[in-house]
Amino acid sequence: MKFQDLNIIEPILSALITKEYEEPTPIQIEAIPLLLEGKDILGSAQTGTGKTAAFAIPILQRLYMQKHYQSKRDIKALILAPTRELALQIHDNFIEYGKNIDLRTTVIYGGVSQSKQVSILHRGIDILVATPGRLLDLIQQKVLTLAKVSILVLDEADRMLDMGFVKDVKKIIAMVPQARQTMLFSATIPPAILNLASEILHQPERIKVTPEAQIIDKISQSIYHVNKKSKMDLLIQLLSDTKLKSVLVFSKTKHGANRIVKTLIQQNIPAVAIHGNKSQGARQEALFQFKAKKIRVLVATDIAARGIDIDELSHVINFDLPDVAETYIHRMGRTGRAGLGGVAISFCSEDEMNQLHDIQKYIKMNIPVVKNDPYSVVLGNAPIKQKSHNPSARGSASPHHTQSPKKKAYGHPRPKNYSKYDNRNQNKKSSN
Ligand code: AMP
Repeated sequence: MKFQDLNIIEPILSALITKEYEEPTPIQIEAIPLLLEGKDILGSAQTGTGKTAAFAIPILQRLYMQKHYQSKRDIKALILAPTRELALQIHDNFIEYGKNIDLRTTVIYGGVSQSKQVSILHRGIDILVATPGRLLDLIQQKVLTLAKVSILVLDEADRMLDMGFVKDVKKIIAMVPQARQTMLFSATIPPAILNLASEILHQPERIKVTPEAQIIDKISQSIYHVNKKSKMDLLIQLLSDTKLKSVLVFSKTKHGANRIVKTLIQQNIPAVAIHGNKSQGARQEALFQFKAKKIRVLVATDIAARGIDIDELSHVINFDLPDVAETYIHRMGRTGRAGLGGVAISFCSEDEMNQLHDIQKYIKMNIPVVKNDPYSVVLGNAPIKQKSHNPSARGSASPHHTQSPKKKAYGHPRPKNYSKYDNRNQNKKSSN
């Protein structure tokens, strides 16, 4: 399947060529024809599947095909996104795919002064990407109106609800004319999203891109069973391998992320943290440095990392396992973008065995355990029935480093006599 087969117009096709997209991703193949027909969509797909282009291309094309589209710059398409980072990325994609089309796109989000955003809006805009809070603010100040919106997108709707935006989102939708095309994308479709979908979508087509199959097959996963206090040493040991070029480390908490960064810097491993306590400027700067490969390691919490689009991310490291099994897949989706392979390494301490059990049940496979590593300990595992996902990733994983571990890297000395941990019965604990 080629983009040409999807009836995409020339100016957009040539922009896709510049992006070096060779063929559409599965969600693009499914969604683009339906959206070009003007259908509503309920899409379960997460970032990393090519979802943004799946909705941005048809929006650009439909607006372009409307006669006299340039004559008046009313907001005709509104894309709501939960975070500033995601909003910025969606905006960037619209600019790239629409570079040969005279449609104006802008993005508004909170945490920065509104004056620049307001002056851009006053000049007239066709496509607006927004986070809910700033959008409502500016509507209340009568800086903009949604009265002419004919296409509405809710991206990462589940995250929007998780972040407590439900009232704001409903208020905004009530201001958009009923006669419109609506798209709702969500990584998960819990009952709250189904309710919202039934309220705002009109006879939607349901599209589901199964992230597990797509992501798991492409990513080499492994897990280290490790004592909690040795996690930092293990991280430093792994990062001593320069083959880990671009690494996103997940921490459960903001403080944890700060601590990890501080320790890495003390070890001369340049790293930055990205989380909700950081100012917008600091988050942008961190992302910029990471994307420009000036910094190898980005330490993030889930909310901050969600939706971040980083090309060529080589490794994801779960310093802490997520509490929700699905989040494991979302984290892995940060690497292996749009079909590229990637490596996901997880640390699991004894108190995280239940999370590991849930994750393995969710992904229907056992994550290969790295053995014979100085920091590995034997914890009780809870094997689950295997599904034929990624046969090459089965069995015992090879460590992801080639250099020998650093001698007592810092702080906690690595266990001198670590063979004592090689006792299978030690620390054994049922995770059921
Ligand atoms: P998204 O799911 O929209 O965040 O997209 C994930 C990544 O895939 C982004 O870096 C896109 O630029 C890239 N991408 C989207 N569509 C394609 C495609 N058809 N071929 C190659 N890369 C793509």
